[in-house]
Amino acid sequence: MLEATHTRYLSQLVGEDNFYIDPAHLQAYAYDATRERYLPDGVIFPRHEEDVCQILAYCNEHKIIIVPRGAGSGFTGGALSAHGGLVLSLEKHLDQILEIDEKNLIARVQPGVINKHFQNEVEKRGLFYPPDPASQDQSTLGGNVSENAGGMRAAKYGITKDYVMALRAVLPNGDVIRAGKKTIKDVAGFNVAGILIASEGCLAVITEITLKLLAKPKLKQSAMGVFASIQDAMEAVYKSMASGVTPVAMEFLDNLSIRAVEQRFCKGLPMEAGAILITQVDGSVPEQITWQLTQIEKHFRENGCVDFCVAQDAQQEEDLWFARRNASQSISIYGKKKLNEDVTVPRASLPALLQEVERISQTYDLPIPCFGHTGDGNVHVNIMLEDPDTQLEKGQQAMEEIFKSAIALGGTLSGEHGIGLSKAKFMPLAFTPEEMGLFRRIKSAFDPNNILNPFKMGL
Ligand SMILES: Cc1cc2nc3c(=O)[nH]c(=O)nc-3n(C[C@H](O)[C@H](O)[C@H](O)COP(=O)(O)OP(=O)(O)OC[C@H]3O[C@@H](n4cnc5c(N)ncnc54)[C@H](O)[C@@H]3O)c2cc1C
Repeated sequence: MLEATHTRYLSQLVGEDNFYIDPAHLQAYAYDATRERYLPDGVIFPRHEEDVCQILAYCNEHKIIIVPRGAGSGFTGGALSAHGGLVLSLEKHLDQILEIDEKNLIARVQPGVINKHFQNEVEKRGLFYPPDPASQDQSTLGGNVSENAGGMRAAKYGITKDYVMALRAVLPNGDVIRAGKKTIKDVAGFNVAGILIASEGCLAVITEITLKLLAKPKLKQSAMGVFASIQDAMEAVYKSMASGVTPVAMEFLDNLSIRAVEQRFCKGLPMEAGAILITQVDGSVPEQITWQLTQIEKHFRENGCVDFCVAQDAQQEEDLWFARRNASQSISIYGKKKLNEDVTVPRASLPALLQEVERISQTYDLPIPCFGHTGDGNVHVNIMLEDPDTQLEKGQQAMEEIFKSAIALGGTLSGEHGIGLSKAKFMPLAFTPEEMGLFRRIKSAFDPNNILNPFKMGL
């Protein structure tokens, strides 16, 4: 609970409409996509960067915790005020696209801009911003930078970090820093923007983002291949990509996921298949598309693909992607609760990881449907619990084994969703004490009073 002097000061600073302390208003800011609930002591909506500076300077002086928040779509609790304090919400006022510079192919935005809105605006000018998290309709660009979000187009176009050219941010003491430049080349000074990307609101509050844009490819086309086994499917992916094709997306569903979608939606999916691959290619001339699809079909068929089809129009395109888009909700047929994580391994280690998941599934007697991004090695593993009250501990042990397997294969705890609260306790699996010590010293250099999103990321 905030002292009366603090509420008075903060309320006068931003105005009553931009500062909530009544529990009814706070409820909406007590959650993110983890569905954990932590009621903050207050929510404050800065109107501009100067407000952010003053709020942070005041809270730093009085040691009040600040939790930055975009849309609250995070999957790991990064925007939750687990230790009380103020939620600093960037979505209400800092939501403007400041500049789209068509000559330099860059844009400057405020952190509260919604990803999809930004994509739409640049596409109106024939330009393209590729990072496309599945939460693109709701998540903010500030949240995307803070989590280094990625999406299905990562196989070809990379993830948020590949598009961030510069940031403005406010340090916990209220100072503004600029990191990076509009220039393509910039080798002066430390790469501070690189440290702020994926820092999950623990180091500074991002107030402006300069993003790289591309020209929008004119054509795209999708295809689907059906395989008897996930190993065959993965071999087909490697061969296709080594042949010079760089698909925009190369997604897979395992057998459990295929069955779940089919059971829910009756779309005529191959229930006995070990895996399906859904892929998309793009380009500027039809010959580019044809060449890529021909290569993919050749390598798919040479590696056990029993059925291959190419979408011929927008409706078929939609139909091909239906299974992937609806996998996440469909697997609820296997249990009331799912523990879902997004471990990532080097692409070539995916079959080994999926074999381990199969073994863990049998050991713990829990269904674990998997789907995700074969193009970049990022798998969504979903441990399904029919009776969460009795199975939760078992499920968590199974997840820990999956994390260990991914790390042993040279992978990482998270390819998309970050660490936040949910995965904080697993950080020592992935990092040595020396590496964790370095993270803590970096945190302390930015935030000596530990007011900014404390204890997240295992710090
Ligand atoms: C249905 C669904 C699908 C999803 N799909 C994907 C996916 O495909 N790929 C993917 O990567 N993620 C995905 N996510 C996770 C989530 O959407 C992303 O992590 C997203 O980037 C979070 O953005 P947000 O605006 O909601 O941030 P929030 O959840 O509000 O915050 C996330 C973190 O960023 C910090 N933060 C936010 N704004 C700032 C700022 N301006 N300055 C400093 N720190 C800040 C917060 O403190 C917090 O730690 C999905 C989530 C859902 C619910």
